[in-house]
Amino acid sequence: MAVTQPPPRGAVDTLAQSLRGELIEPGQPGYDSARALYNAMIDRRPALIARCVDAADVITCVRYARAEGIELAIRGGGHNGGGLGSVDRGLVITCRRCTASASIPMPGR
Ligand SMILES: Cc1cc2nc3c(=O)[nH]c(=O)nc-3n(C[C@H](O)[C@H](O)[C@H](O)COP(=O)(O)OP(=O)(O)OC[C@H]3O[C@@H](n4cnc5c(N)ncnc54)[C@H](O)[C@@H]3O)c2cc1C
Repeated sequence: MAVTQPPPRGAVDTLAQSLRGELIEPGQPGYDSARALYNAMIDRRPALIARCVDAADVITCVRYARAEGIELAIRGGGHNGGGLGSVDRGLVITCRRCTASASIPMPGR
């Protein structure tokens, strides 16, 4: 469900305090560069951009979006041609700062 109202202040503050990464809102320094996509023809204005640094941050953001009923976009490199790495008025999770990786052993390789 997409909502057009700004997310409640208290819930946004709680989200910001819960994250190890940074939470960026419209009007803050860096908002425009953080929302930019590779395809510059797509100009979306999320309500919140979370620069997640680990899986716990991502989980926190997904739970927040579910609880508040706001749309969510997950961004890796921001190269998706259709702009699916962003969303108007919703929450963008950007994973560029998630640096952890897992190695899964494959039998026979
Ligand atoms: C110039 C150019 C060259 C390219 N060359 C190649 C190439 O050589 N080979 C190739 O394979 N591809 C190529 N691509 C395509 C590009 O690599 C793919 O679109 C890739 O998926 C982008 O990855 P990303 O991490 O940048 O996605 P982002 O733009 O960060 O997009 C996020 C992805 O997450 C998904 N997503 C967003 N929100 C949600 C949600 N709530 N739930 C579930 N999923 C969600 C979106 O559908 C999207 O796929 C090229 C693209 C460009 C612009």
